[in-house]
Amino acid sequence: MNALELDGVRKDYGTVPAVSTLDLHLDEGEILALVGPSGCGKSTLLRLIAGLEEPDAGVVRVGGDVVAGDGVWCPPERRDVGIVFQDHALFPHLTVAENVAFGLTGLSGSRRRERVAEALAMIAMARLADRYPHELSGGEQQRVALTRALAPRPELLLLDEPFSNLDRHLRTQIRADTLELLRKTGTAAVFVTHDQAEALAIGDRVAVMRAGRIEQLGAPEPVFHTPANRFVATFMGDADFLPATLTGDMLVTEAGSVRAPEDVVGRVDALEVMVRPHEVVLRPASNGTTGTAGTVDHAGTVGAACVVDTEFQGGFILHTVRLDSGRQLRSLQPHTTHYPIGTRLHAELSYGHPPAVLPDSDAANTATNTATNGHHAEPAR
Ligand code: ADP
Ligand code: MG
Repeated sequence: MNALELDGVRKDYGTVPAVSTLDLHLDEGEILALVGPSGCGKSTLLRLIAGLEEPDAGVVRVGGDVVAGDGVWCPPERRDVGIVFQDHALFPHLTVAENVAFGLTGLSGSRRRERVAEALAMIAMARLADRYPHELSGGEQQRVALTRALAPRPELLLLDEPFSNLDRHLRTQIRADTLELLRKTGTAAVFVTHDQAEALAIGDRVAVMRAGRIEQLGAPEPVFHTPANRFVATFMGDADFLPATLTGDMLVTEAGSVRAPEDVVGRVDALEVMVRPHEVVLRPASNGTTGTAGTVDHAGTVGAACVVDTEFQGGFILHTVRLDSGRQLRSLQPHTTHYPIGTRLHAELSYGHPPAVLPDSDAANTATNTATNGHHAEPAR
């Protein structure tokens, strides 16, 4: 049985298609991270699942039961769905225990008290049971909101950027606790975030959304390593792109050759490979010369490059290098490796997995670029 099924669900606001005819299935206990830029329809999708919005088309099922569509309308409180929003929205005049008890209807008083105690104990909040929301920190309030949503033991928990108001350290901690709780209770969840790192860390699967559509849905690793298109590639991490020519089963680029994935061999369209900064190796120029305008020691050498920018990132230094064609690649180096701006070196692709190969969206522009970059521009030093 699926915890959640959306079939052809659509929601327009006037002429804005907030959610465009969308299909989505979630297994029992599965955690889906829903990620995308602001305004892409994430909250609308959650509200459709929760019953806070009515779809213009399509069917929503929770735990196998139709809750919207097919002539059925089931109000939010009867959907077996818990919700946690960004602004915790606790009842200010109720204590922590009363807040958690709020959704536990249809239980006797003693059963209710038992369930509240149990829920608070799960997240180590028992000592705060008699406090009011204004006596809690932001993080504690979010924990109570989470406990309140989980206490009725819903089939599915919806979380809409629940921790984005918390500082980084606290966010990481609460996120880990939330995951543990979801696993322990076997609750399926849709976790909305605009933070790609959070999505990769938390999701069994990740859905990348843009303009009301899911652009890619899959396990975190393939979404990160083999994005379906440029949007997903750049949204899920830093990415540069290099034109690549197929020669047999090798993809030849300006920064070295890599083996082509099987499904790419034989393609005849213009291709490019995605390169993330941790996939670019930098090597010092072999003869140690720093190079001046006009020297030819690297001319024609694969990956000949020049450092044009460096950025200190704590444990790492992000180098930006310009290849002889004028194209730029970023390369993440440990903090012990710092090539100053102007250093001539070699930049080479080094993937630990088959590269992401995309249609070369700039094929037309590339032709012009290559023509205008025939000369070797050197940086002023
Ligand atoms: P996200 O949560 O990804 O930031 P939303 O689902 O809130 O995106 O919004 C998706 C689109 O729908 C946006 O263009 C937004 O302006 C529009 N929208 C959201 N809610 C309403 C509403 N109640 N009335 C009109 N337009 C809305
Ligand atoms: Mg939103």
